[in-house]
Amino acid sequence: MKIINPSNGNLIKEIYSDSIESVKTKFTDAQRYFDFYSRSDIEFRKKAIQKFSQKLLSHVDELALIQSIETGKVFGHAKNEILAVRKRIDYFLEHTEPLMKTTHEYSDENIQESIEWEPLGVVLNISAWNYPWFVGLNVIVPALLTGNTVLYKPSEYATLTGLEIQTLLYAAGIPKHAFQVVIGNGSIGKALTDLPIDAVFFTGSYETGIKIASAVAKKLIPVQMELGGKDPSYICDDVDILKTAASVADGAFFNAGQSCCSVERIYIHSAIYDQFVAEFTKIVQDFVVGDPSEENSFIGPMINAQALKKVNSHVQDALSKNAKLLTGGKVMERPGHFFEPTVLADTNHSMIMMKDESFGPIAGLQKVSCDDEAIKLMNDTEYGLTAGVFTKDESRARNILSKVKSGTAYWNCSDRVSPWVPWTSRRHSGIGSTLSRAGIRAFLQPRSWHMKKP
Ligand code: NDP
Repeated sequence: MKIINPSNGNLIKEIYSDSIESVKTKFTDAQRYFDFYSRSDIEFRKKAIQKFSQKLLSHVDELALIQSIETGKVFGHAKNEILAVRKRIDYFLEHTEPLMKTTHEYSDENIQESIEWEPLGVVLNISAWNYPWFVGLNVIVPALLTGNTVLYKPSEYATLTGLEIQTLLYAAGIPKHAFQVVIGNGSIGKALTDLPIDAVFFTGSYETGIKIASAVAKKLIPVQMELGGKDPSYICDDVDILKTAASVADGAFFNAGQSCCSVERIYIHSAIYDQFVAEFTKIVQDFVVGDPSEENSFIGPMINAQALKKVNSHVQDALSKNAKLLTGGKVMERPGHFFEPTVLADTNHSMIMMKDESFGPIAGLQKVSCDDEAIKLMNDTEYGLTAGVFTKDESRARNILSKVKSGTAYWNCSDRVSPWVPWTSRRHSGIGSTLSRAGIRAFLQPRSWHMKKP
């Protein structure tokens, strides 16, 4: 497999992909080892994960560089991702053990009824490339802490980071057959889903999610899907325009718009539409596009030519339907997969970019006359990951957000993920939850005990 730097098209490395045979061997090893690993002392598993987290800190610069050259993420942002993932690990370390304790739910003179929590078995984690530390470890850490064995297929575009995760887990004491990376593209992912795995946790696009859900349907195993989004923000008429425009622009363009919860649609109350659009555009024009290794770069390349083509087609479609181009709008003439940060105003829902995930550095701005119109438009998509409302009035925000179908509701913020609350979704954005207590429970299954005295 060729690992290419998306910021200049250079070959970073060639490595061997797994084969169908090696995938089967890895699965058999994981399955055999499960019995032993699931009975290991949780203190042993916690110590290994703690050590892993310390290793992340001591190697943060080299790990960030690897992620930056293979995914095009700006170096400083890659570094922050690794530092932030340690906070998630702390959360899992603190909260997993209490959730694994057997609870006695009912008893009388004859019977005791209890719930015991067991790991699932061999957990398959197939993952996206855009936040490989976050989305990888959201699954890997709670899966290993709860006593599952894990097969991890990183995206082919985040392979080197996947291999680093494996190296550091082993160095921290996680046994070889408890965690194994599987290297390859989608066809290797498909081969994994054909095996008798016990659960599948997937992060990626809706299209691939459907393929995986269909492939494993007959197994009747737990399936969790963290999929795409088309996340809206609604800007009410009472906001501080400058502050709000800066916050929303960051939510839309961070990581070159390649976040599942990037703000992709912005609805603006007509009373402040012109002012907001002007401020927002100025902020986007000031974003520095550049090589991800340069300190002042804020926007790097897109991941590959296919992603670039998709974003370009969304822009061309909007322009052909009379959207107003305020800045950007084209593929950049330089090596690598760069697209100009693009703002399109006067958009409407006949345009693809206002309904389907674009996943790039473009934002569509649309005028609305009232809260009800904003709610209707925010719900006019198949996706339901996050939605945000910007207003000084908390009850207005709560009222609007309670009517929008999304897994996460944001008041005066966007593009925010916390280990304390579930990362969850509605409709085509997925099923199940990672993070929080729900995201630990996801790796455990209850066994009910009915113990009757003789
Ligand atoms: P893809 O759906 O293209 O790929 C995701 C993973 O699935 C990759 O590892 C890919 O391998 C693998 N894969 C591809 N085809 C198959 C198959 N038939 N069977 C099994 N596995 C397969 O997504 P991207 O990696 O491009 O990630 C971007 C998407 O992920 C966006 O839609 C984004 O919104 C979403 N996402 C969602 C998140 C959430 O929390 N909701 C978080 C992060 C991203 P390979 O890459 O090697 O082809």
